[in-house]
Amino acid sequence: MAPHTAPEIWFLTGSQGMYGEETLRQVAEQSRLIAAALDDSPQVPARVVWKPVLTNSGEILRVCRDAAAQGAIGVVAWMHTFSPAKMWIAGLDALQTPLLHLHTQANVLLPWDDIDMDFMNLNQAAHGDREFGYIQTRLGVARKTVAGHVSDPRVTARVGAWARAALGWSAMRSLRLARFGDNMRDVAVTEGDKVEAELRFGVSVNTYGVNDLVQVVDQVADAQVDDLVKEYDDTYRVAPGLRPGGERHDSLRYAARLELGMRAFLDAGGFHAFTTNFEDLGGLRQLPGIAVQRLMADGYGFGGEGDWKTSVLVRTLKAMSVGVDGGTSFMEDYTYDLTPGEELVLGAHMLEVCPTIAGGVPNVEIHPLSIGGREDPVRLVFDAAPGPAVVLGLADMGERFRLVANEIDVVSPPQPLRRLPVARAVWRPRPHLPGSAEAWITAGAPHHTVLSQAVGVEELHDLAEMSRTELVVIDADTEPRRFADEIRWNQAYYRLARGF
Ligand code: MN
Repeated sequence: MAPHTAPEIWFLTGSQGMYGEETLRQVAEQSRLIAAALDDSPQVPARVVWKPVLTNSGEILRVCRDAAAQGAIGVVAWMHTFSPAKMWIAGLDALQTPLLHLHTQANVLLPWDDIDMDFMNLNQAAHGDREFGYIQTRLGVARKTVAGHVSDPRVTARVGAWARAALGWSAMRSLRLARFGDNMRDVAVTEGDKVEAELRFGVSVNTYGVNDLVQVVDQVADAQVDDLVKEYDDTYRVAPGLRPGGERHDSLRYAARLELGMRAFLDAGGFHAFTTNFEDLGGLRQLPGIAVQRLMADGYGFGGEGDWKTSVLVRTLKAMSVGVDGGTSFMEDYTYDLTPGEELVLGAHMLEVCPTIAGGVPNVEIHPLSIGGREDPVRLVFDAAPGPAVVLGLADMGERFRLVANEIDVVSPPQPLRRLPVARAVWRPRPHLPGSAEAWITAGAPHHTVLSQAVGVEELHDLAEMSRTELVVIDADTEPRRFADEIRWNQAYYRLARGF
């Protein structure tokens, strides 16, 4: 899949005509430097494009409209001087991109010895940005506020987190998701309102007959299969029986054919996310295992059992994590080690865990699958790399969506999992398994999640703000009773926020 090509964030500077040409020239010069510092920061994963200083409502409305029309993924605004905020009303009302309010100033130190009224006149963001804050809050504008100097890496890190969320939001807004088959029968949490999803997130979710996919899979040329089988051999440790001449080599070739067919189907339809359902495989000979795993590794969203909501999240977090170390995968809380005080989650799925989270070179293996009634599927098997990560789930609460995140620490399995034939992650959730699980279940959050080593809670929080979706976070400070209260308060808030 082609990576997001140099997305732009526009840097807007507010001022007013009253200061005169000389001051506005200095405002322009200094705001260019601030924009350039953000643009140069390796923490900000986008081009930051400076726009001419804004001094009236007509200019502001135009630039706010142009931002979305010209494909900017977000807008950073800074009131270098005092920009009377009534001139921002129409522009902010029309703004269709995420907004970050950077509360900064040109200088780090005050020139205490020399400071005079000229300096005061030029450098008044301390109150200019408060005027801007008032109008944003008065209008109810979704945004992130970041205060501090751009030379401070904590500031650029926070701007960077927001820029990553904007990348995810942009990917979500244009996402087309293909479902192969419907949801697993009778399952509740994988259901959801696809109309609300398109309204809220911009994602289009549609179902295709699995046999439409079968046709594409069956048409894949043998020469392409030859090449992909060789790539498997170069990239992974392929089990001897699956290699050329091995007794199960034909199964590996079919798995490669599946990958090529799915990729062709997705690319032809402009889909960047998909779901499968083991109950509905039509003429597919295997449940797609390695195919799904490798498509995820290339940035496609995936959800098992028709779970399109989690597939949307996988794709979105993949888009957010471009250029960062650490992977992102579809995941499911599978089973526990309940040793008191040292409780662990073993997460896995039937097959579909993304190799970007692997701690080493995956094995390619084939084993029976006890459900689905098809031929044995080929899959990548590995342990996830240890380190901090988050899991994120999306639930449809009937009237709206709720995101739930848990900070976790992936650990090496306490003992080798010699007989477990699927990829897996073992983790210790924060604050601890009982606290995490009680909070997660209280929130009604799903068993399918995205596990990401690349995206943190700050980025998720920013994404939730952009999409105006509830996000509750379970972390080291979570205390179950307070958490249950937070859920109740949120329910009241979100019901009221919808209006009557
Ligand atoms: Mn599942």
